[in-house]
Amino acid sequence: MNEIFLMKLGEIVLKGANKRQFENKLRQNVRRRMKPYGNFDVYIMQSTVYVQPMDEDADVEGAWEACHSIFGVVSLCRCRPCEKNLDSIYNAIEEYLGDDLDCAKSFKVESKRSDKAFPMTSIAISQEIGGRLAESHPHVEVDVHHPDYVVYVEVRDLAAYVHGPAEPGAGGLPTGVGGRAMCLLSGGIDSPVAAYMMAKRGMEIECVHFFSYPYTSQLAKDKVLELARLVTRYAGRMTVNIVSFTQIQEAIRDNCPEEFFTLIMRRFMMEISQRIAKGDGCGALITGENLGQVASQTMEAMTVTGAVVDIPIFMPLVGMDKEEIVTIARKIGTLDTSILPYEDCCTVFTPKHPKTKPTLGQVLHAERNLDREALIAQALESVEKITVKYHDEPLL
Ligand code: ATP
Ligand code: MG
Repeated sequence: MNEIFLMKLGEIVLKGANKRQFENKLRQNVRRRMKPYGNFDVYIMQSTVYVQPMDEDADVEGAWEACHSIFGVVSLCRCRPCEKNLDSIYNAIEEYLGDDLDCAKSFKVESKRSDKAFPMTSIAISQEIGGRLAESHPHVEVDVHHPDYVVYVEVRDLAAYVHGPAEPGAGGLPTGVGGRAMCLLSGGIDSPVAAYMMAKRGMEIECVHFFSYPYTSQLAKDKVLELARLVTRYAGRMTVNIVSFTQIQEAIRDNCPEEFFTLIMRRFMMEISQRIAKGDGCGALITGENLGQVASQTMEAMTVTGAVVDIPIFMPLVGMDKEEIVTIARKIGTLDTSILPYEDCCTVFTPKHPKTKPTLGQVLHAERNLDREALIAQALESVEKITVKYHDEPLL
């Protein structure tokens, strides 16, 4: 094949002794993500992932798009490999980039020589190739300061590679190097973004969703599974735990003072999520909470809801403005699904005047008539585990 993707590693390069482990994880992830697109060879050399289509049937366009959502990559480009001599490099540029170059007002050549055995310096390569290109494209000016188009030449160990401008990668750390966490996924805008952000820091994500049939509909559940599917584009295949929450919500409604409904409900969510998390090897919870957004997201409320768990609760959105969250939701493609109008169980039995500055003592008193253990055990028995992956049919 005459084209190859080069993907530059991000923060992994800084990881010192763990670098090898990070690279292995990334290579594994890229191999898995390329599978649906055909036969690709994936290897890492000199802080660069090489992704090479191995036969004519490979879906190169699909693979290229997928490469943009792999964490651990800062930038990526499509290249033409060629032999390590000036004629081959020049010919490869003419064939592969000649049309792009013709459309530009000005250009320059930028060379990098990581094969130090190559007899010319990078500056000499740029001058020589730039001179030849200036002759064959006389209408495109040479401009080394503010060029309209840059032709890149990389002389590496195995071959030379020529390419145009690189594109930004997904950033972050390779999925799996940051451990595993359980994200409380609702049908809203925030929690899918929270899942994405922690996946970006290298976490494997599992999700839990609480639904209250018949107060919430099958559509609301499908919406959440669809949101999970959209997040798998970045995070990779995941399990979604669906927990029936109806009995707990009815028990709260029947036995607790109204102003504490949401707080008590959220304490159940946290505790049940932690139990499933521990059973599945997750070391943290993730929520889409955001300071001050609603009554249950004050510092005091978070203290009360966090009190039932003993693992960290990651809230990557806690200090962001709604607009910033929406921008990410739009970028990762979850926004349109999130704003579909199916209700969430949090909006069932919402108190008219929720308590915004609760103390733990007040909440413990408010929930004293509930048999917490029995309710939690029952909810845990209802758990349905569903595996979601990006190439599944969309649910909505
Ligand atoms: P979101 O947009 O993520 O729904 P929100 O602003 O609506 O967030 P809340 O409804 O207070 O906020 O929920 C706060 C967090 O609690 C959510 O981000 C999510 O992590 C979790 N959560 C809420 N409802 C559910 C649910 N039904 N199942 C699982 N987790 C939930
Ligand atoms: Mg919500």
